[in-house]
Amino acid sequence: MTDIPKNRLSKSHISVAQNASGRSLNVPIYRISDNAPGPRVYIQSSIHGAEVQGNVVIYHLLQALSSQKINGEIILVPNCNPVGTNIKAGEYTLGRFDPVNGTNWNRGYHYDEEQVFSFADSVQENDTQEQIKQAFRQSIAKAIDNKLSQPWGLGLAQQLNLRLQQIATTADIVLDLHNGPVSTRHIYIPEYAKSAAYEFSIPHCIFIPNKFAGALDEATFCPWWTLQETLQARFSREFDFGVQAFTLEMGSQEVIQFDEGEKDAVSILGYLSQKGMLQSGDYKPASMRRIGVMLKDYRTMFTDFGGMVEYCVAPGQHVKAGDTMARILNIDDLDNHKAVQNVVAPCDLIPILHFPSASVLSGTQLYKCFTEYFEL
Ligand SMILES: [Zn+2]
Repeated sequence: MTDIPKNRLSKSHISVAQNASGRSLNVPIYRISDNAPGPRVYIQSSIHGAEVQGNVVIYHLLQALSSQKINGEIILVPNCNPVGTNIKAGEYTLGRFDPVNGTNWNRGYHYDEEQVFSFADSVQENDTQEQIKQAFRQSIAKAIDNKLSQPWGLGLAQQLNLRLQQIATTADIVLDLHNGPVSTRHIYIPEYAKSAAYEFSIPHCIFIPNKFAGALDEATFCPWWTLQETLQARFSREFDFGVQAFTLEMGSQEVIQFDEGEKDAVSILGYLSQKGMLQSGDYKPASMRRIGVMLKDYRTMFTDFGGMVEYCVAPGQHVKAGDTMARILNIDDLDNHKAVQNVVAPCDLIPILHFPSASVLSGTQLYKCFTEYFEL
C-alpha cells in the first residue's frame, strides 16, 4: 500500500477501556479529508470481537482512498472493541458478550426519545435546517458527555459504546461493520432510508422501523428520524437532515478474507460515491439482484432437539416449505427410528445465517431467515 500523505490523513488514538493492569486500551482513529465540503462518515468495525472481517474492509478502504479525492471527511475506527477481540476460549473468540456479566457489546449506546421531543419543542418556525441540525447534534453530544461523567459510573460495555458514539455523533453517515455466525452478506436499513438498498452492493436487505434496542445504527438514526417526524407534524413541511446509519453484515465471524474484503470496500465506496463524497466516478453500486425483507419477517428458527447438527442449506440459498434444513443426531437413540430428527422449513424462505457449532442444545437459534421477502 502506498503511504497516504499526512496532509490528507490524520491518525490518533482514543482510550476506550482500561485493563486490570491499569493500561489504557487504545483504538486507532484514521481521519481522511481533502478539505472539500461534504458529509462526514464514521465507519467502525469489530464491536463484536469475533467479527473481524470489517478490519480488512477498512484496510481496503484506506488503500482505495489513498488515490481518491474526497468531499467531506471519512473517519475509520477499526477493531473498536479491543476487549472483545482479546477474550478467547480455546480456539474461539467470545466476542459478542462481556463474559463478566453477559452484556452484548452492541447495546449500550445512548438514545433518549424524551430529549428529542423537548428539543423539537425548542425549535422556532424560522430556524434553518442547518441551525437545527447543529443544535440537535450538540444536545446529543452533551447528553452522552453527561452520561459518561455522572458520579455512579457505568458498565464497561456502555462506557466503551458511549466513547465511540461521541465520535459517531459528529457524522452524517454511520456504518457499523459486523459479521453473522456463518452468514451471507446482508445489511440493516432504516425504513426511511430505503433507497439506500440500491446504493450498496449487498444482496440481502433488512428494513428496520424507528425503534431503539441499543445498537449503534439505531442510536444514530432514531433521534434524527424522530426529530424529522416531530418537526414535520409541527410545522407541516418536510425536514431531511441527511443522517443515515446502517449495520453491514460482511459474511461470517472468525473469518478474514482479503479478496472478499476488497469487494465489500468497493460496495461502500459505491455508496459514498452516490452521496457525492468521491470526486472521481470510479465507483458505482453494482447492478445486481437485491432481496428485501421487513424486520418482522426476518425470523429465527429454533431447534426443539438437542444433538449433533448437519446444516443442510447454505446461507443465501432459496428454500421451499417442507425442505430439510438441518438433521440432528441424538446419540441416545442411535439404535432406533428417532436417531435422526429433521428440521424442515415452515414456509418458503432464505436462510441468511446459521449457528456456527455442530453440537446444539434444545432451544438453540439454528437459523435466521428471510420470509415474505420481495425483490427490490
Ligand atoms: Zn455483530
